[in-house]
Amino acid sequence: MALRLADRLDTLPGIGPARARGLEKLGLVTVEDLLRCYPRSYEDRRKFSTVAAAPVDIPVCLELLVAEPPRLSRIRKGLELVKARLVDDTGSLTATFFNQTYMKDALRPGETYIVYGKVEGPPGRRQMTNPVCERSDRVRFTGCILPVYALTHGISNNLLAGLARRCVDECAGQLEEVLPGPLRREHALAAAEFACRSIHFPRDEEALELARRRLIFEELFYLTCGMALLRTRRDEAAGVPFAIPPVEEFLALLPFPLTGAQRRVMDEMAADVSAGPPMNRLVQGDVGSGKTMVAAYGAWLAAKNGRQCALMAPTELLAEQHFRSLAPLLEQAGLRVGLLTGAVKGKARKELLAALAAGELDLLIGTHALLSEGVDYADLGLVITDEQHRFGVAQRAALSAKARQPPHVLVLSATPIPRTLSLVIYGDLDVSVIDELPPGRTPVQTFVVGEDKRQRMYGFVRKLVGEGRQAYIVCPAVEEGEDEGAGLKAATTYAQGLQTEVFPDLRVGLVHGKMKPREKDAVMTAFAGGELDVLVSTTVIEVGVDVPNAALMVVENADRFGLSQLHQLRGRVGRGKHQSYCVLVTSTRNPDSRARLKVLTKTTDGFQIAEEDLKLRGPGDFFGQRQHGLPQLRIADLAGDMRVLKEAQLAAQELLERDPGLKRPEHAPLLKQIHRLFEQHGDMFN
Ligand code: ADP
Ligand code: MG
Repeated sequence: MALRLADRLDTLPGIGPARARGLEKLGLVTVEDLLRCYPRSYEDRRKFSTVAAAPVDIPVCLELLVAEPPRLSRIRKGLELVKARLVDDTGSLTATFFNQTYMKDALRPGETYIVYGKVEGPPGRRQMTNPVCERSDRVRFTGCILPVYALTHGISNNLLAGLARRCVDECAGQLEEVLPGPLRREHALAAAEFACRSIHFPRDEEALELARRRLIFEELFYLTCGMALLRTRRDEAAGVPFAIPPVEEFLALLPFPLTGAQRRVMDEMAADVSAGPPMNRLVQGDVGSGKTMVAAYGAWLAAKNGRQCALMAPTELLAEQHFRSLAPLLEQAGLRVGLLTGAVKGKARKELLAALAAGELDLLIGTHALLSEGVDYADLGLVITDEQHRFGVAQRAALSAKARQPPHVLVLSATPIPRTLSLVIYGDLDVSVIDELPPGRTPVQTFVVGEDKRQRMYGFVRKLVGEGRQAYIVCPAVEEGEDEGAGLKAATTYAQGLQTEVFPDLRVGLVHGKMKPREKDAVMTAFAGGELDVLVSTTVIEVGVDVPNAALMVVENADRFGLSQLHQLRGRVGRGKHQSYCVLVTSTRNPDSRARLKVLTKTTDGFQIAEEDLKLRGPGDFFGQRQHGLPQLRIADLAGDMRVLKEAQLAAQELLERDPGLKRPEHAPLLKQIHRLFEQHGDMFN
């Protein structure tokens, strides 16, 4: 019987229960799953060479004869190796196989094999380590570009490639063409079947490039369409409009006049919440630009309309900080403000939740705890999330789900994101930018220094502490080539060394990501309270902590960080009236890395820095792992595939203008794929 897309892989020959479980671990249950599981890389098994002519360091195929029986030796327990002498007309080499004892019998003396791998060593002592061998009369993957897949225990690449070969041959033609014909022609996109065949088994580089382009475009197209659909759905939802009282009443509560940018963003927000559909707005503003006041205005508007507001922050510390600054401010206007974190327990928690459910609270500030079960609002009208990049689309949706009608949503973010990207990531939101800092800030002076200036840097720390200031010293959490544990130990030993050898007379504290939230907050609170002079930390302080007396930020191994991340770190100082400094310590001699860091000495514009970052670091690095909370992409890289992204965005826009809800029958397959991409976020579309 012919194989179909929906057939289970465990019905194929050679796939028993154990292998089926392995495949399932990789997310592969059906033939279609396998077709949509794209190779991580490829091995070019088309290039042949000889023992004498083989280039060093580039893998090649060699046709070699096994000259004598392979020898097995046991180096120590758990390490066995097989050595074989292989020859061709031009010379001989030694192949070594680690922990592949079966190679002793698999390689038969006198037989010829196609051996693929890197040849190392000088002529006369040429060798290969763990090469791949196929008997020359039974080659399966020689002469082609072989796909290399992500693997798991018990599933070898040969097994997957073999399965893929069969599934692609028999089923690639059954894949539905999802992209409309005119769109494919306009953007020169390969057909679905060709793309599937060529992404797994490309005929040549050109075919692979065509396939990749089509698949990347396709994925980004689904993503953009999906975000746009989410947005349309919200725009069509019936919100509960707020009435807007005179803004002067709110301004009278504040200790300082607002900046023009803050006022503009507040006006944009007021226009949103007073219109029909619920607000969905992102407020982007550099660290220190005063986003909290915009949030306060939102909470005030909600309360004036008799509705409740929830403000969610990513850490307990930040939630408490918001509570401390907002509660006194808003209580002047009669708002009742509560704080809910994991630390609020027992009777206090019960009373707080009862007040919330009874409508006796106007603003509840908290952490993820706001999402937990049992947190019920009497009438939630506005949801605000702070430092959005720590939350995802899904959490935003979960909080909104606690409202009876779709609430207004306000998202605050300090992460400056280049425009093209923000269109995708926040494609479902309107964007406001606070592009002005409150007056009277002196820009942080930034320096890049090498190891030779270390003692001077320590001297500078001591001088500022002598003047009553405090300092942060940030170490990278994970060091290259070491696991996370080792990296953390580096921060720990660093802090110890600093305390015992460099600053025995100063109070040195340590905070890192592996500490319990409670411990972390205790240290941060001590630092904020002036009980520590120097705080050694990993990047956990990155998010929004406000310690106005801290005037120095030192970053060790600064070259390990992205520019945007360094900019965020730098934003931790310069929050008070004191001249502040940022010292980036690096031992790199790489001129490019140095030039990159120098960007920070020249500008404090977060958006410009983000653009630089993207340009200089290139693909992949812009976001931490999935911090954006978007669906997981299979092949596209948001930062790396910018050109295709722009194209896909335009195409999505055009299509959605013609068929806003993708309701036409010919777009049904497209809609299905979009839902599939967003599936992991639950029923966002239902
Ligand atoms: P962020 O945008 O990083 O969240 P905050 O809202 O925490 O910034 O504001 C940073 C600091 O600036 C706070 O101490 C806040 O009170 C102060 N601030 C905010 N707006 C103004 C303003 N218009 N004038 C003076 N100070 C302000
Ligand atoms: Mg903030």
